[in-house]
Amino acid sequence: MTTDQTSREPAFRVCTNCGRLTPAERPDCAYCGTMSVEALAERQEAEREHRFLYALFMRSNPFVMIIIGVNAGVFLLEWMAGGMGGLSADPEVIRAFGAKDNALINQQHQYWRLVTAIFIHIGFLHFLLNNYALWIIGQEIERLYGSARFVVLYLLTGVVGSLASYTFNPNAQSAGASGAIFGCSASWRPSPFATAKNCRSGWRPT
Ligand SMILES: [Zn+2]
Repeated sequence: MTTDQTSREPAFRVCTNCGRLTPAERPDCAYCGTMSVEALAERQEAEREHRFLYALFMRSNPFVMIIIGVNAGVFLLEWMAGGMGGLSADPEVIRAFGAKDNALINQQHQYWRLVTAIFIHIGFLHFLLNNYALWIIGQEIERLYGSARFVVLYLLTGVVGSLASYTFNPNAQSAGASGAIFGCSASWRPSPFATAKNCRSGWRPT
């Protein structure tokens, strides 16, 4: 049997505990079993990663459900006020509930519409699609950033969405959580592993 010994020179390291030479490819000492410094560091790193992912997974995310609950409650009221029709997209009802309406904002200074519009949906399909997206993306965002930051992000990006509609679509009444959901998706990193490396230092489970 010919083994190529020259290219596979066995490497040794000095054990930090017993001082004897032990094969370098083994994480522990062949004589006393003490782990090498590198192996210990590697294990600690793996444990930190595991703790981070566990905490991330276990972190609660109540505000996604609260926002979806508010959206559903408002939509139910809209639907009842609109005569329980199939589409539930009566412009009068939607205006009364607080949709974005440039004329009312300009003439009557109803700036609150930029906020209330976030919680109003025009028709059942609009309601369904937005809240489904919120359910999928929002849970991860809330776990990642924490509830307080999630709520602030949601409201701010929602208002930015209303302002965009105010500016670029001045003649249309508009409503919906789309702006907030776009805002959340923009801050979404699909892999928690990538995030673990990027934000571990500043991250605390709350
Ligand atoms: Zn040893």
